[in-house]
Amino acid sequence: REFCRRLPKVELHAHLNGSIDNDTLYKLMDLYKAKHEELPLEASDKSIYAIKQGETRTLAQCFDVFRAIHALTGSEEAISIVAKDVVQGFANDGVRYLELRTTPKDTPTSAEYVRTVIDALKTAQDKHQGAIVVRLILSIDRRGSVEKALETVRIAAQNKPFVVGVDFSGDPTHKDARDFQSAWDLARQKDLKLAIHFAEIKNTEESLYIVNELKADRIGHGCFMQDGVEDAVLKAQIPLEICMSSNVMGQSVKDYDDHHFHDLYEKDYPCAISTDDMGVFSTTLSHEYAMAARKLDIPQPRIWDLSYRTIDFIFAEVEVKDQLREIWNSEKVLLA
Ligand code: 5GP
Repeated sequence: REFCRRLPKVELHAHLNGSIDNDTLYKLMDLYKAKHEELPLEASDKSIYAIKQGETRTLAQCFDVFRAIHALTGSEEAISIVAKDVVQGFANDGVRYLELRTTPKDTPTSAEYVRTVIDALKTAQDKHQGAIVVRLILSIDRRGSVEKALETVRIAAQNKPFVVGVDFSGDPTHKDARDFQSAWDLARQKDLKLAIHFAEIKNTEESLYIVNELKADRIGHGCFMQDGVEDAVLKAQIPLEICMSSNVMGQSVKDYDDHHFHDLYEKDYPCAISTDDMGVFSTTLSHEYAMAARKLDIPQPRIWDLSYRTIDFIFAEVEVKDQLREIWNSEKVLLA
């Protein structure tokens, strides 16, 4: 575990508002109460916050947690606190490159929400003086409209190169990636990368579309890869973001021993161990690496290889990749 904490790490699948820890949550509650006296209804039942290791929730209950968090993050001040604290949390855990993702909110407009987030992330990045590089991906909520998705892509393009790509997330029981073809076309035209939530529930047609037609640059989760989906994935070799705690605690996967990462690791498939929502699922990236090492009996040099390999999958410029490889190689000696 100590090795995994000291290991330099890349985080590629982390939702901004899912990465809020309890301390930040209490700050947000105080901030809200100072302005409104009472907590908002969605956020008043504290038992729905962070899910402790060993506990599970249904996917629907996990989405209730996000609703509660969103009720507390409706001001620019709150957004700035969240963005700064989340970067600090990842930096404290030895993350050297962080690709956060967030869904633009009307606070007060999507473009201004994104501007507030970017300003806070850049301030936090500067504070760490090169110890952590941060980039942003904008999420399209699959429950939203195609117009909203197109707006998100446009805002992403306007904020390149800090914004590196577009994500597709939100409640997987709603709508379908195929409904958003015009947004994907625009993203490609604007030279934005696509990181797509994939096979979180059984949806064979959508999954095959994401791999074979959309040809996403990265896919996330992959819990339900039956009916030819796994064969398509193995053929395409699209890097897969692995979120073990999230999948187990959100009940998409029965337990850690049953997780599809076992099989993919055996096949040397390109995978990026990730946290998904480190606040909601009470985890850290070090913990996810340590859990994988323990459950799959992976020796330390192979854990280092796994971390090093994730540099290949980042969306930032090639210069950033080169810098990170230098850091990893110099720290390898110190870790040995
Ligand atoms: P935000 O975009 O507000 O910064 O982060 C929280 C949002 O990320 C949630 O409301 C949800 O749309 C999305 N999200 C977080 N975790 C998951 C997940 O495991 N699966 C899916 N599909 N979406 C998620």
